[in-house]
Amino acid sequence: MCIFCKIINNEIPSYKVYEDEYVLAILDISQVCDGHTLILPKKHYDNFLDADLQTINRCMNVIKILSNKYKKILNSKGFNILNNTNEIAGQTVFHLHFHLIPRYDENDEIDISFNRKKPFDLAKIHEILK
Ligand code: AMP
Ligand code: ZN
Repeated sequence: MCIFCKIINNEIPSYKVYEDEYVLAILDISQVCDGHTLILPKKHYDNFLDADLQTINRCMNVIKILSNKYKKILNSKGFNILNNTNEIAGQTVFHLHFHLIPRYDENDEIDISFNRKKPFDLAKIHEILK
């Protein structure tokens, strides 16, 4: 059983911030900032690609509830909402989850940036994807 399924089954302790029939939200064990939260479906899916839309929507609904709550209680000024799908993208726990990362100020040392320096051919990519 995966580590998040064990948390859902209360076999491993966690700091729960939200729970309903389908979704659990817990504080990430290594907080990148105060209130860094993981939102996960109670049913196991390895990742975003495997999960059905209803499950994803239920998670999104909880993200919305919690971000409104954190804005009020923690006075966070913004959020990063993040999902890592597969190892190449940084996924380390293979049970679908979303990170809710409250942001407080520009010096919080959280660096989520894109390297836009690589050459790219927008028209070619569009040709493939359209
Ligand atoms: P990811 O890299 O997107 O798969 O994120 C996995 C996250 O799970 C990491 O940020 C970990 O800090 C977090 N994590 C791992 N084990 C636990 C745990 N027992 N309780 C809470 N968070 C955990
Ligand atoms: Zn699991």
